[in-house]
Amino acid sequence: MLTGLRLVCEAAELAARRHSGQQRKSDENEPYINHLAEVVSILAAVTDGADAELVAAGWLHDTIEDTDTSRDELVQRFGVRVADMVEEVTDDMTLAKSERRRRQVKDAPKKSPGAKLIKIADKISNIRVRIFFEPDAGQKEELADYLAWAEQVVKGCRGVNARLDKLFDETVAHAKGTL
Ligand code: ZN
Repeated sequence: MLTGLRLVCEAAELAARRHSGQQRKSDENEPYINHLAEVVSILAAVTDGADAELVAAGWLHDTIEDTDTSRDELVQRFGVRVADMVEEVTDDMTLAKSERRRRQVKDAPKKSPGAKLIKIADKISNIRVRIFFEPDAGQKEELADYLAWAEQVVKGCRGVNARLDKLFDETVAHAKGTL
């Protein structure tokens, strides 16, 4: 089983390959891997790099949902805990967006501590990408809608890491200041 820096590096490499050619939904000029790098950077910072499996799962958090990657493959390469965290933050893409959003709110309190941290870091990154200098009406509406939902999800994920909770609150306050 891989450990530490090797685990993180191989997770980063697989994520980079699998998400190759994908762009962020809200900004087509930004490669998808920028989102992953932002999420893992947040996770590593607030935990002082103490949990390599958490950071590896951060790199991989969208692979099952958005690429041709299975839980079994992640178990084989990165172990059960990493695979479990990724699976926990994976939406069922056969469901409508409204139902996926409803389930994220409902299921958040039942997630493992690691999955809760990934969820919050993911929401921080997704809020940041929706903040614009001098946003138009559509961008404001999109941000306000995302914030309202993200706050509900994060309500069920709080209490694992105080620094991450604070960073989320600061991100929300900054975002609301642009509306
Ligand atoms: Zn994500």
